[in-house]
Amino acid sequence: MIVVLSKDISSHDKEMLCIYLRDRGFNIREQNFGEDAILGASGKGVVDIRELGLLPGVERVAATSKPYELASRETKTEDTIVTVGQVKIGGSRISVIAGPCAVESREQIMETAARVRESGAVMLRGGAYKPRTSPYAFQGLGMQGLEYMKAAGEANNMPIVTEVVSPELAVQMKDLTDMFQIGARNMQNFELLKKVGSLGKPVLLKRGPSATIEEWLLSAEYLLASGTRDVVLCERGIRTCETYTRNTLDISAIPVVKGLSHLPVIVDPSHAVGIRAKVSPAALAAVAAGADGLTVEVHPRPDEALSDGPQSLYPEQFEKLMRDIEALAPVVGKELLRIPRYSMPGYAAPAGSGSLLRVTDSAPAEAAMDLPAAYCGENGAYTEQALNRIFGEDAPRLQVDSFRGIFDAVLGGSASAGVVPVENSLTGSIHENYDLFLRYPDIAIVGELKLRVVHCLIAHERADIDSLRIVRSHPQGFAQCREFLEKYPEWVQEPCTTTATAVVSIAREGAIRVAAIASEAAAKAHGLKVLREGIETNPLNYTRFVIISRRCGGRNGDGCADRCGDTAPVPPSLGSGQPNKASLVFSVPDEPGSLFACLKIMSERGLNLSKLESRPIQGKPWEYLFYVDVSIPQAGELFDKVLDELKGKTVDFYHLGSYRAML
Ligand code: PEP
Ligand code: MN
Repeated sequence: MIVVLSKDISSHDKEMLCIYLRDRGFNIREQNFGEDAILGASGKGVVDIRELGLLPGVERVAATSKPYELASRETKTEDTIVTVGQVKIGGSRISVIAGPCAVESREQIMETAARVRESGAVMLRGGAYKPRTSPYAFQGLGMQGLEYMKAAGEANNMPIVTEVVSPELAVQMKDLTDMFQIGARNMQNFELLKKVGSLGKPVLLKRGPSATIEEWLLSAEYLLASGTRDVVLCERGIRTCETYTRNTLDISAIPVVKGLSHLPVIVDPSHAVGIRAKVSPAALAAVAAGADGLTVEVHPRPDEALSDGPQSLYPEQFEKLMRDIEALAPVVGKELLRIPRYSMPGYAAPAGSGSLLRVTDSAPAEAAMDLPAAYCGENGAYTEQALNRIFGEDAPRLQVDSFRGIFDAVLGGSASAGVVPVENSLTGSIHENYDLFLRYPDIAIVGELKLRVVHCLIAHERADIDSLRIVRSHPQGFAQCREFLEKYPEWVQEPCTTTATAVVSIAREGAIRVAAIASEAAAKAHGLKVLREGIETNPLNYTRFVIISRRCGGRNGDGCADRCGDTAPVPPSLGSGQPNKASLVFSVPDEPGSLFACLKIMSERGLNLSKLESRPIQGKPWEYLFYVDVSIPQAGELFDKVLDELKGKTVDFYHLGSYRAML
């Protein structure tokens, strides 16, 4: 039983409360949990919960039906997000930890760290103390190994996680590791759990090979009850009758545990299957089942590995897996977490976001950290969801009332970046927003995000589908749910500025004959009910958002890198690694072969065209602008040359930006 204390409880009331509970047979432990100060009461005591709830200084009493209380979703309904350095685990992100089974040498861990970082891993794993089944097998390099690992983490801007095998070592390792791992074999080593929990650092708790879900959660309870708030659960396969694989990955444990507990759940497919070729499919299955992340063994030369070589991925296989995860994540409403590879001087992530934004030398880092990202729409708008994915749920934000307002906020300096929808996979380009780029030449695209759109029919708590008369949404919302709406020809369709505006109007009016088409998040944000979920005609419904930022003062030469020239955007930039995509808009002379001449340049320079669209030029009947997206195999000077060549063949030419593409 958990007694949540009111914020202003006096020490006298607290003392009386403890006496009250002890007299009734409870053991009491006081601690902080999230924002709350709580008393954990365990033991065989009996108490009248209503009477307890009325005592002075008691905010509420949570009597869970589960033996684990701090870990239970009944005690805390919202997802816990665990922070390790700049990495967050939980919520809408997929965080991937990678590295070798064991640290074998300084060179090996340095090389592996750099390779997995290059592919997008955000944390480094590796054992310095290895609890091996055989006493004759490699036992790890101990403290020396941990020193190597710390250096490799620092060199690659990755927090590290490593296994701790005894309470004494936990104390010695505390300042060298960012997160402790409790290995499967030690899941029920209660003295170890109590010691590690008391140190207050984040902990990755692996499931024991023969542990039930309840036993696993009770081990998490030990950690939480001992003082840490940051526990990540890791499913790593259990022992079953099957012997083909090393263990059996308990995929169903992922949704089960996510229902029972608020703690993030990640999966270790390497120890689960033990066979290199089966690791990636199992990893993708885990993501599809709702895992918040993965921990994957990778070795540059698995044949030479001192432990678990047969299950370690080659770096190239890991790179492929990361790309597959990136493509799969939006299907389950998540985003692969990416973190900038290097923290460059003058570059900083916005406060608390763990995000990808960098700021220019020309803007002081501290100022940029305080500047919000601008978006248009009410709470729960798809654009807000995109913003959360890009910058983090707690990133500062500026709500404006039109898409143009986003451009104004970024240009005027009241926002460091903006999030703008430009294209939907079913209904095509959002021309209104593309046109804004031509009117704001000092704004550039610095990144993109593809968000899966799941539309819901949303209405007042008391509404039912048969009595609806009006449906409100953004026109794209109607277009994307055409087949569903055809079943209700009597409904009057009322267009709104955004899908979330439609939800807000219903919440404000309290109307019960009106419904909105919008996201589940919007329904939640405004206290409305979801009548139907997933009503979009085609489930492969994605909206592409671009992240915009102000170009540097390069147009006038102030504070600008030499290469910036007239059109090249400078950071903020998104994603790790070099830009690999560019968006261009141009018109061509009215003569035979003029568009062909441009396409020929792209073809000869190896630029893969991913989008080509023509749009009428406002005020010039029968003249067109071409909107082009290309992949750029090599950014930098080579691509600048291509831009110059293209400029020579075009009339108007706009380089909207070069950025890191999502798949
Ligand atoms: C490990 O992750 O290195 C490990 C030994 O895993 P487990 O404890 O799950 O066997
Ligand atoms: Mn291993």
